Amino acid sequence: MPFYADIVFPTAVRQPFTYSLPDERVRAEVEVGKRVWVPLQKHKAIGVVVRIHEQTPDFNTRAVEEVLDEEAVLSGELLKLTRWMYRFYYCGWGETIQAALPAGLSFQAEKRLRAVVQSIPEHLDEQKANIVEEVQAAGSYSLKEANKRWNDKIIQQLVGQKLLEIWEEPSMKMAPSTENLWDWKKESSCREAQQLVKAYEEEGKNYKWVRALNVLSGLDLPAFQRELTPHDLLEHYTLNRIAEEGLLRVREVESNNLSLKHDHDPSQLKTLNEEQQTAYEQLEVALETGGFASFLLYGVTGSGKTEVYIHALKKALSQGRGGLVLVPEIGLTPQIVKRFYTIFGDDIAVLHSRLTNRERYDAWRALQQGEKRIAIGARSAVFAPVQDLGLLVVDEEHDASYKQKDPAPRYHGRDVAIMRAHINDAVVVTGSATPSMVTLQAAKKGKSKLLTLNERPFEATLPDVDVLDLKQYRSAMRGPLAVPLFNAVEEALERGEQAILLYNRRGFSFYLQCEHCGEIPECPNCSVSLTFHKSKKQLRCHYCGYAERQPRQCRECGHEAVNPQGSGTQRLEEQVGTLFPEAKTLRMDFDTTSGKNAHANILKAFERKEADILVGTQIVGKGLDFPDVTVVGVIDADTELAFPSFRSGERMFQLLSQVAGRSGRAGKEGRVFFQTWQPDHPAMVAAQKHQFREFARQELAQRKALQYPPFSRLIRFVFKGKREGRVRSVALAFTESLARTIGSEDPVLGPSPAPIARMQNYYRWESFIKIKPTNGAGAIEQLIDRTFDRYEKDKPKGASSVRINVNVDALE
Ligand code: ADP
Ligand code: ZN
Repeated sequence: MPFYADIVFPTAVRQPFTYSLPDERVRAEVEVGKRVWVPLQKHKAIGVVVRIHEQTPDFNTRAVEEVLDEEAVLSGELLKLTRWMYRFYYCGWGETIQAALPAGLSFQAEKRLRAVVQSIPEHLDEQKANIVEEVQAAGSYSLKEANKRWNDKIIQQLVGQKLLEIWEEPSMKMAPSTENLWDWKKESSCREAQQLVKAYEEEGKNYKWVRALNVLSGLDLPAFQRELTPHDLLEHYTLNRIAEEGLLRVREVESNNLSLKHDHDPSQLKTLNEEQQTAYEQLEVALETGGFASFLLYGVTGSGKTEVYIHALKKALSQGRGGLVLVPEIGLTPQIVKRFYTIFGDDIAVLHSRLTNRERYDAWRALQQGEKRIAIGARSAVFAPVQDLGLLVVDEEHDASYKQKDPAPRYHGRDVAIMRAHINDAVVVTGSATPSMVTLQAAKKGKSKLLTLNERPFEATLPDVDVLDLKQYRSAMRGPLAVPLFNAVEEALERGEQAILLYNRRGFSFYLQCEHCGEIPECPNCSVSLTFHKSKKQLRCHYCGYAERQPRQCRECGHEAVNPQGSGTQRLEEQVGTLFPEAKTLRMDFDTTSGKNAHANILKAFERKEADILVGTQIVGKGLDFPDVTVVGVIDADTELAFPSFRSGERMFQLLSQVAGRSGRAGKEGRVFFQTWQPDHPAMVAAQKHQFREFARQELAQRKALQYPPFSRLIRFVFKGKREGRVRSVALAFTESLARTIGSEDPVLGPSPAPIARMQNYYRWESFIKIKPTNGAGAIEQLIDRTFDRYEKDKPKGASSVRINVNVDALE
C-alpha cells in the first residue's frame, strides 16, 4: 500500500510537494493523474498526483483530504509529456499540466462563506445581521459574490468577529453552454411584423431594425442567434431592438449541439496524384512499421498537402489508432474543418479557441472515451486526449502562433507534438510551403525525412508576382494603390472576379498626432502609442486594452487639431471604398473578428461572393482557398522588416509566399502585387520568384555565421517589475550569474531594456543566451537551476518584487 503522494500545483514552483495518504479510503482511491484536495500553506488547493511512493520524507507531511476524480484526468502518456515540458521549458510541472487540461477541469478553488453562529447576536447592527442571516439561509455563499453584493470591509469585520468564516472548496462546476434562441413573441407576431414593415415603408422611413424585421419575417423561427448572425442585418443588437417592440422574444437554451453541419461523405476522398502518392506511401510504410518517425512535407501552397494528411489519417484509423491535426489558430477555418469532416465525420473533434468550456470539455471527454478518434485544433490541441495516437500532423509548421508567449508554459506546439510522437511511437508530419529554418535544418541533418510536392493539381500554376517599387510610383498612386495594382483590381472587378488587399497590421500605425507639436498619445501603462479606432472614436492600447475617448485637444500643447496619421485596415477599407465605389468590400482584422463566429462569417460571406474585395491583415493571408480571387495585393510588404529580430527576413518571406499562393488556384490565372520600398531585399526577391530553396540557402548561411537558431538554441529571460531600478539590478545580477554558470563557452547577450520597455505598468528588461542546439531538457534544466542557485546567494535588494520569466526557444 502506498503511503505518500507527490503532488503539483499550477504555480511556478518547480518541485512537487509530498503529502501523506492518511487512510484506507484515500489510499484506495488515489492514482497518478487524479486531482486531489489538499491543504497548502494557509489555504486549500487542488493538485494533481504525479507519483505515489513509500519513501518517508524527512519533514512532516500534511495529508491528502480528498480524491476528486473517479478516473485519472491525465493519462500516463500525457503525464510524461508534461514532465518533459516543464523541464525543457523551465516552468512548473503544474503549469504544464494545467495547459494540458481543458478549462473545465481546472485547478481552481473557490472561497466560500458560511455562518459560524446558530443565532444572530442582538447587538449586531441591522445590515450585518441581514448578511449573516442570508448566508445562514443559503448554507454557504461564494465570497466573490458576497464581496460584490455587500461591502467587502463589512464581510471582513464579520469574519473577524467570528460570525462568518471563510473556507475553500474545489470548484468543479462547469456551466452548461447556452445559446440564444429567437422566436416570435406571439403567434400573430409575424403578421404584425409584416404590417409594421409596410407601414414604415409607406411613410418612407428606412430604419435598420425595420429592414431587419422585413428579413426576419421571411425566415423560419425559432432560430439560434448563430443561424441569424450571417445575415448582415440580424445582429444581436438589432434583434433586441425588435424585441423591445414586443414582437420577438429570446430564450437561453442549453446547447448540446456539438455536431457540425457539414456533409459527411467519405466517398469524396480524392485519388492522390503521383507525387502525393509517393509522399503518402512513405508515411504508410512508417505507420505499418510502427515506432517513431518524423517527416517534413514540403510543398507549395495548393500542392495538395492536406490530401496527403487525410490519406495518412485514414491509414492510422484503419490500424485502430488515433490522429491529431494541428493548424495555426487562424488557419482553423471552416473550409479546412469541412474537408476533414467530409471524410471522417463524427470521428473528428474540433477544438478551437471559441468553444465554451462546456463544449471543450465535451469534446475532450469524447476523445478520452475513444468515441472520437481524431482531434483537430490550434496549439493547445496538442494535448487532446486522443487514444492510441498513431499520427500527428502539424500543418503550416512555421507559423508563429504555435509558440505560446505568456503565460508559462512558453511551449512550441510543433516541438511538443514531435515529443508526443516520440512518447507514443507515432508518426509525425510537419508540413509547410515555407518551412522554418529550424525544421529545414532538422531535415538536412536527417532527423526528419523530407517529402516534397512540387506541382499543383489541375496544373494550376503559381501566379506571377509583380514587385512595385513605391519610390518609382510615388507620383503614380491611386490612393494607397500603385497604378498597376489599381488597374488589376479594376479589371478583375469588371470580370466579376474578386480581389484581396492585405495590410500587414491591425490598426497599428493608425495613431493620432498633434499637427502643432507632433505629440502622439501614448498608453499610460505601456510604452507604445495608442491606436485610433475611428468607428468608436476611441484610442486603444493593443497590449493592455486601455481605452479612452478621442481627445479634442493635444494634451501637450492644447492645440486643437489632432489628426489621424498612418494607415490601418480601417483607413484602407475607406480608401478602397472611394476608389471602387461600385464594389462591395469586407474587412477582416483583429477588430472585426473578435466575435464568436465573426471570422468564419466574414469568410463565408466572401466565399458566397457577397463582397468583391476583402481588405485585411495577415489573418487574410493564410489557409484560404477562394476560387474567384484573381488579384492579391500587399500594400506594405516591408512591415516585418521593421521588427528588430533576426527572424524578420524569414517572416517576411513566409508571409509573402503564403499570400502569393492565395491567388490563381483552381485553374484561373492569378496576379499578385507586392508594394515595397525595398524591392531588392533578398526575401522579397525570393518570394517574388517562389524560390524557397534559394531563400533558405542564404538565410541559413547568415544564421550560421551569427550562430542564430537553428545553429543555436535561444533562451530569453525577461525581468519584470514596477520599479525600474530594481528590475535593472535584478537583470544585471541574474545575467551575471548566467554568464558565470555558462562559462565562456556560449554567449550571453544583455541585459538591456526590452523592445517594449514598459507594458501594463511593468518595466521590462531582457537577456538572451545562445546554447548548443543539441541541449535538451536535462541540460537546460540543469543550467538554469544552477544559475538560480548562484543568483539566490547574492540577489539584490528588493529582488522578490521582480519576476523572472524564462522563454526557451524564444521566437523574438
Ligand atoms: P495544400 O494543403 O498543400 O495547400 P490542398 O490540399 O489544399 O493543398 O490542395 C489544393 C486544392 O487542390 C484543394 O482544392 C484540393 O481539394 C485540391 N486537390 C489536392 N489534391 C488533389 C487530388 N489528388 N485530386 C483532386 N484535387 C486535389
Ligand atoms: Zn497599454
